[in-house]
Amino acid sequence: MHLLPSERTAKAVYAIRHVEKYVQERRARGLDVLKLNIGDPIKYDFQTPVHLRKVVQDALKTKNYYAPSAGEDEAREAIAAEYSVLPKQVFLGTGVSAVLDDALNVLLNPQDILLIPRPYYPLYPVICQKLGLQFSVYDTVAEEGWTPVLSDPPAGAKAILVNNPNNPTGAVYSKKVLRSIVEYAATHKLVILADEIYDEIVFDEPCTRFHDVVKDEVPLITFNGLSKNFLAPGWRLGWMVLKNIDVKGPFAEAIQNVLESGLSAPTAPQFAVKPALTGSKDHIHDMIKKLRERRDFVHKRLNEISGFSCTKPEGAFYAFPKLPTKDDVGFVRDLCKETGVLCVHGSGFGMPGHMRLVFLAQKPILTEALDRIEAFTKIES
Ligand code: PLP
Repeated sequence: MHLLPSERTAKAVYAIRHVEKYVQERRARGLDVLKLNIGDPIKYDFQTPVHLRKVVQDALKTKNYYAPSAGEDEAREAIAAEYSVLPKQVFLGTGVSAVLDDALNVLLNPQDILLIPRPYYPLYPVICQKLGLQFSVYDTVAEEGWTPVLSDPPAGAKAILVNNPNNPTGAVYSKKVLRSIVEYAATHKLVILADEIYDEIVFDEPCTRFHDVVKDEVPLITFNGLSKNFLAPGWRLGWMVLKNIDVKGPFAEAIQNVLESGLSAPTAPQFAVKPALTGSKDHIHDMIKKLRERRDFVHKRLNEISGFSCTKPEGAFYAFPKLPTKDDVGFVRDLCKETGVLCVHGSGFGMPGHMRLVFLAQKPILTEALDRIEAFTKIES
């Protein structure tokens, strides 16, 4: 039977996974695929730290009940200590993907506008589309290290979402840039939503958190989780931390209510939060060491390919080069069909003429991928 989806969801496409459709045909022909589309470290040569796995394995023996909707006390307390706030200001959920969805759901009415960066992580518009919310983009500019260029927001703007370190550009904003965003938000009475899921994965300078530059000027909600810094994306655990928002007020109450309707986040992984935040972080040093080398290599090779230009990623694990064509969708599709290298088209991030490449893979794979991209580009031009 032919069934139509709701208008809200009909066009809500998450490009990063959607491109996998190009792979099937190649695999059916028995040809290889080099997948550089998804930012999942576990699919490459990274592993969830042993001390965290052990805690979760133990928790799975006895703790298979629903957790409290806002999260286990132990996890809330550990996150609260990390941000010097009260546990009541912390809410856990099924990844940043889910807690961001909850926060936007509770924060915005249909007439309100959410400001999101361009290029954007595709989840942001997808959540807005699904929930029937409006968004408007502010540009970040390659020539200025992909930092935001902020002009007066449209009437109805209620919140500004900032992703630092940034997916897909790899930009890491200075304290000065963060301060200017805080002043902008204060002037225009905007709530700041800070997606800082990559805040420990930085190659040159440490990442400053909004939490440390916001005093009492604006409401701030910070998002983070276990997926990237702690190499456990499959545990689906993320959190939000409220600052300058009354925890006894209606907003926090509505967050609690929405979380109650989802029952709880996965219980066992919540017991990894305290050891993650307070225990050994050796895995982060190892990860950064490997990634820095891969970042340097990919950055150099991309800029050697005729017609490509790429700024140097300072954090996360993505490169976002400008392509020698405006038709990024066709380029990425044909690149995969012809060479098996799977990247994501820039228009999936709101920025045509670019593509995103994940540099989590080992050097021989990246070498092969970049050689294939170069050969393909020569034939195309
Ligand atoms: N935010 C950004 C910027 C991301 O890149 C990702 C995943 O790639 C997420 C959020 C999703 O995080 P989680 O796994 O906690 O849902």
